[in-house]
Amino acid sequence: MSKTVSEVLAANNAYASEFNKGDLPMPPGRHFAILTCMDARLDPAKYAGLSEGDAHVIRNAGGRASDDAIRSLVISHKLLGTNEWFVIHHTDCGMETFTNEIMADLLESSLDTATVDESGWHDTGAGPGSVEGHYINWLTINDNAQSVVDDVKRIKGHPLVPANIPVYGYIYDCGSGRLVEVPEATAAGAV
Ligand SMILES: [Zn+2]
Repeated sequence: MSKTVSEVLAANNAYASEFNKGDLPMPPGRHFAILTCMDARLDPAKYAGLSEGDAHVIRNAGGRASDDAIRSLVISHKLLGTNEWFVIHHTDCGMETFTNEIMADLLESSLDTATVDESGWHDTGAGPGSVEGHYINWLTINDNAQSVVDDVKRIKGHPLVPANIPVYGYIYDCGSGRLVEVPEATAAGAV
């Protein structure tokens, strides 16, 4: 068994041995959802004070309002009753470090993990890669605040999202742990 798997199972063993939340209902008790980045430095349960059963947390690279993120948000409201949503991007996001073209070129070169330095990303893998990366919109971020505004606007404008759900826009500061509002986003997400 890999070291990672044994560590995860040991941690789960400890968690389950003290677990007493087996009777929680499926709908989130606090009726809200967070769309945020998968970045390992972000812990939504901690930065937003969540316990099991409280809220939906939808995560992807960048915390972007992709079609699949919207799929989850629509389910979150339509079937599970959330009625307030947050879009939370963050400082120093990896999605600011590349473009669609850079990512596609790296993947075309090889599928191995790329390296990054002051001059940007480099592929040092052996290959072969794949041209499939050219057909994906990687939803990279050019301007952090603008990406929050764009995502809130996309969610609010989606035909499957009812008008009475407020969507709040924030940037999590990886340096301080603080959530900083993006007022233009929250304004765009107002009911
Ligand atoms: Zn990120």
